[in-house]
Amino acid sequence: MNSIIKFSNFIKRPNVLPVLFANRRWRSTTPDPQTASSEAKEEGGLCFDLTPYQKEIKDLARKFAREEAWELGLMNIHIPQEYGGLGMNCLEGCLIAEELAYACSGIQTAIEGTSLGQTPLYIAGNEQQKKEYYGRLVAEPKVAAYCVTEPGAGSDVNGVKTTAVKKGDEYILNGEKMWITNGGVASWYFVLARTDSDPKAPASKAFTGFIVDRDFEGVTPGRKEVNMGQRCSDTRGITFEDVRVPKENVLLGEGAGFKIAMGAFDHTRPPVAAGAVGVGQRALDEATNYALERKTFGQQIVNHQSIAFMIAEMAMDVELGRMAYYRAAWEIDQGRKNTYYASIAKAFAGDSANRAATNAVQIFGGNGYNTEYPVEKLMRDAKIYQIYEGTSQIQRLIVCKEHLNRVKMGLI
Ligand SMILES: Cc1cc2nc3c(=O)[nH]c(=O)nc-3n(C[C@H](O)[C@H](O)[C@H](O)COP(=O)(O)OP(=O)(O)OC[C@H]3O[C@@H](n4cnc5c(N)ncnc54)[C@H](O)[C@@H]3O)c2cc1C
Repeated sequence: MNSIIKFSNFIKRPNVLPVLFANRRWRSTTPDPQTASSEAKEEGGLCFDLTPYQKEIKDLARKFAREEAWELGLMNIHIPQEYGGLGMNCLEGCLIAEELAYACSGIQTAIEGTSLGQTPLYIAGNEQQKKEYYGRLVAEPKVAAYCVTEPGAGSDVNGVKTTAVKKGDEYILNGEKMWITNGGVASWYFVLARTDSDPKAPASKAFTGFIVDRDFEGVTPGRKEVNMGQRCSDTRGITFEDVRVPKENVLLGEGAGFKIAMGAFDHTRPPVAAGAVGVGQRALDEATNYALERKTFGQQIVNHQSIAFMIAEMAMDVELGRMAYYRAAWEIDQGRKNTYYASIAKAFAGDSANRAATNAVQIFGGNGYNTEYPVEKLMRDAKIYQIYEGTSQIQRLIVCKEHLNRVKMGLI
């Protein structure tokens, strides 16, 4: 423990952070994506090697996640450095997400929830909005949340009923959001609301994205929901009743909300996939250790072929899930549209984490069904990766649509 650097200490001593990262040549050792990519090509094609710097942050996050998850301070990794954040790219965020989820995927979801809330600001915020709302998150341990889903609209975002009506220099917001991660603890929310009263208006014009302070009058988070897994993550409904939102809090402009809300997923689905891989890796490690210890019929159960095959399937799923999120993150870090890869990674890793966790419970036998052993929690926790940020079914619709686009464009 002495040899590792405590992230929690960074938070208590904010001035240490820039110095330490400057000493580690925080950005300068991260290769320019263009150069890295062309070097890889020159040397014969794809290159999935992590840089020494990336390996270092992965190891650091692994140690923290496994040894001190409760005190983690990795909340603002994607906020650009000019606003006081760490300015990490998507892949670097994914490496951290995998290791956090390995230790506790509920913690990872809570941290990912604030990243999700911040992403609309990242892609569409103006200078003033970034200064104000990033500023709050870096000044104190505060978090953000992303409010799109409603009781009647999840997969079908076009069904969002929350309205925002312009009145002078303000918008009056009314509606109800549901299943909001960090809903009760966030300092501010990204909120998607309908601004075009014409029900036939296309989604690409009908909605507007707002930043809404938790302290605005009329904002009321509901009770903490009791979920199947990831119970340390705060999930709530939120009602907005005649909330007065200044026009300065509109992101990009009226009508741009749907694009912003959906565009955020290109950045956040790779880390969600990485979280699922972390859960799968944990299930594999727990199952392997158990299969080497437990004996039946005079031998370790790993020597029974059916157990060995389950372990092999889990290993294959973990390795391929990791490759899928590396690719999805790498694409967006190159400045390219990654929707296709992000949905493949999210769907594959979400499904495979569930297979791995279920197999781990099976390998543990009766012990696997009991809370004294770690794998029943993994099975409960894994399920959410097939639901939030677009269900596994919705990911498949996106993959097929993107695939057909690529066919039409002659890319395949
Ligand atoms: C713990 C948790 C945290 C969450 N965090 C957030 C958050 O921070 N912010 C936020 O905005 N939302 C959040 N969500 C909401 C989440 O994104 C939605 O639950 C999810 O998108 C699914 O929407 P739904 O629940 O309305 O299901 P529905 O859309 O009603 O879907 C029900 C079923 O029908 C399937 N289905 C729907 N449409 C189709 C179709 N066209 N083709 C095939 N199958 C289809 C779905 O795959 C699913 O199996 C969270 C949810 C949970 C449970």
